[in-house]
Amino acid sequence: ETISVGDLGHRMGIKANEIIAKLMGLGVMATVNQALDVDTAILVASDFGYDVEQAMTEEIGVEQLDLQEAGGVAVSRSPVITVMGHVDHGKTSILDAIRKTDVADGEAGGITQHIGAYHVKSEAGDVTFVDTPGHAAFTEMRSRGAQVTDLVILVVAADDGVMEQTREAIHHAQAAGVPILVAVNKIDKDNADPERVKRELSDLDLAPEEWGGQTIFVEMSAKNNIGIDSLMENIQLMAEMMELKADPERKARGRVVEAKLDKGRGAVATVLIQEGTIRTGDHFVVGQFSGKVRALLNDKGMPIKSAGPSIPVEVQGITGVPSAGDEFVVVTDEKMAKNVAQARTLKARESELAAGSKVSLDTLFEKLSEGDVQELRIVLRADVQGTLEAFASAAEKLSTEEVKVKILHEGTGTMTDSDVLLASASEAIIIGFNVRPSGKVKELASRENVDMRTYDVIYHALDDITAAMVGMLAPDF
Ligand code: GDP
Repeated sequence: ETISVGDLGHRMGIKANEIIAKLMGLGVMATVNQALDVDTAILVASDFGYDVEQAMTEEIGVEQLDLQEAGGVAVSRSPVITVMGHVDHGKTSILDAIRKTDVADGEAGGITQHIGAYHVKSEAGDVTFVDTPGHAAFTEMRSRGAQVTDLVILVVAADDGVMEQTREAIHHAQAAGVPILVAVNKIDKDNADPERVKRELSDLDLAPEEWGGQTIFVEMSAKNNIGIDSLMENIQLMAEMMELKADPERKARGRVVEAKLDKGRGAVATVLIQEGTIRTGDHFVVGQFSGKVRALLNDKGMPIKSAGPSIPVEVQGITGVPSAGDEFVVVTDEKMAKNVAQARTLKARESELAAGSKVSLDTLFEKLSEGDVQELRIVLRADVQGTLEAFASAAEKLSTEEVKVKILHEGTGTMTDSDVLLASASEAIIIGFNVRPSGKVKELASRENVDMRTYDVIYHALDDITAAMVGMLAPDF
């Protein structure tokens, strides 16, 4: 796929001989009609101050390359936060309490709409919450390559301590490489024991600063409105350290947080803008769909004309319903939007046919030989705690120079949807002892191409892993 020097100049509004001179500087002798490949075209364009989407240019061919003038400097943006924790530990209550601090709440009759994300302006600073239900959504997005969350707030009730879903949340956040801030909630309760929470979390590599660790702990009571300000301040503190920046001058790009088909309005999607500014009338590509922004609504259901980085907006005017995690990109014109969407639909069909590229015990050796994997990651389930421990320590001992065996997450009880999504996003396999997955979980695993195996005895599983590592696993019929 190529573009001529003349065409490239025309697209950028730059004379061909200036491009020829630039190419000479790069050691390339070219004429006006000379064909340039993708890499050279992108290099030259960027020298003239254009940003080019490499990936998209490859999808649609260089003759249509998407040029946009590189914007100004990056400016700070608000942090994007996901609240996680065990059920009933107070996630919803904390979010509600934070919402009440929103100084923009009284603006022109706005009522918070449930669109999967919302933005709060507080005295301490602005924050954006992604409010998709459970860890599953967080990891499902990640399995699509989407990372929208800058920071996880881990809620742990001071009267209950670390529970199953607390550990699960930690593993999901850690697997995604997202920093964690701990909110020790319900300190108003008589049997509250915040010190115990600190001890339990320290054992999970989340030690508070006062104990020489690096994790910020905020003690609070969502019910009695204690510690909300401190929570908001600490969020800003961590955000400042992360130096979150984006360029509002560019064409917008972001990620779909939630999408649905609305009877009156057609396909609508909540898009969290990550770079640039979205405006009504913009042409865009989102997943396999395209469109033109017909209307934008903010999280209070009010129509707006534009939105910048870290702001969630509801977009109308999409040709279909995209999936959570899909990338949203504003492009130059309708033709480009349609072409990219079309190219993606074709590619999706191809890769559906060629499915099965995930890590499995059957393909482990092959992938090891190709240098594709260095780690065999396992999500582990068993009926009893003792089995978990025995298997985990035996399995980790199987590690060799070439491949490290790593337990990503473990728990008693049967496999869950969330296990499958974690495995899918992290290229892991699932092993269970004396547990049987439900039909629904099995179906999800096969859809996500996750290798899920059940065993009755530990050494059978260890044998299979050993065999897989040396490429001698008997085929499973
Ligand atoms: P979620 O499941 O994590 O979203 O938890 P909720 O926010 O729904 O809270 C579960 C229960 O705990 C509710 O009955 C809340 O009223 C209660 N709760 C939440 N925060 C506090 C708190 O700080 N102190 C006390 N005593 N109760 C709380």
